[in-house]
Amino acid sequence: MPQAFNVASQSATASEPAVRIQGVSYTYPATGIDSSAVQALDSIDLNIQPRTKLGILGPNGGGKSTLIKLILGILKPSKGSISIFNNTPTKARNRGLIGYLPQRIEADLDWPISVREVVSLARTCHRKPWAKPSVEDREAIDRSLELVDLQDLADRPIGALSGGQLQRAMIARAIAIEPKLLVLDEPMVGVDIAGQQRFGQLINTLQERLGLTVIVVSHDMRAIAAVADRIACLSRTLHFHDAPEGLNPAVLAQVFAHDVAGVFGDIHIDAHRAEDCDDPSHNPCGCDHTDENNTNNSEGNQ
Ligand code: ADP
Ligand code: MG
Repeated sequence: MPQAFNVASQSATASEPAVRIQGVSYTYPATGIDSSAVQALDSIDLNIQPRTKLGILGPNGGGKSTLIKLILGILKPSKGSISIFNNTPTKARNRGLIGYLPQRIEADLDWPISVREVVSLARTCHRKPWAKPSVEDREAIDRSLELVDLQDLADRPIGALSGGQLQRAMIARAIAIEPKLLVLDEPMVGVDIAGQQRFGQLINTLQERLGLTVIVVSHDMRAIAAVADRIACLSRTLHFHDAPEGLNPAVLAQVFAHDVAGVFGDIHIDAHRAEDCDDPSHNPCGCDHTDENNTNNSEGNQ
């Protein structure tokens, strides 16, 4: 049996994984005479320790959304098993252990509903329509809005938010059920670098304050690097890249080499931080890294 990738957070001690994926394959069945079966995932083994932020990088069609649907219990593995905090995915979802930010925000933004109402739906949609939110519901909703810094826009119609605000509202909805695992599917499509960094900081804050385990999938390495402290690459099968201290330039270089191998064949990249470089001729960006002020000036507009 192949060895499972063990993805641990930087501070975690060995404990029961938050997510345990064992020998999972998934094949979409053929749907008609014109379509054949598609094997989206092949023999995935992965253990994710609690409080880890795992980024899964992969090309379009690599199986990222399929893996997420399996983790959420929307699809069942053709082979293998998944457990989330010792529950089947369906049980974990029904118990509110998984918060989910879908790949596309599909809400009808013209619907006359406020930000607070969208967030409260996460807690109240299984109730009878006339049942009022409980005190605990209201507190959790307020806390979620505060955590994403939308408390001042809580009564604004959801359709009147900017793209970034809408995304934060959807994160507030995902965390309003007080999950232990937060799953983000391509959260940064069309977001610029500054927006990616802000998003990474937000997820970091949420992870620390709520003790979350986070899985983020994307085809964009920058988006993954902004959020994750561990990285795996998924293209039907899983390739894990790791270092004991988490994400660093050498790990990113390894991931990048993996990512472009389909274009250039195998390449070797050596990477380190500019401040750790003792070779004066090694200065690809042309900045004077020995001069603190100069560096600050050149980056002052970020
Ligand atoms: P990603 O999210 O990485 O872009 P997906 O998980 O959406 O990848 O897709 C993985 C593979 O499964 C692709 O080849 C895709 O065409 C196929 N696939 C996805 N959804 C379906 C479906 N509902 N029916 C058949 N094939 C599908
Ligand atoms: Mg996808």
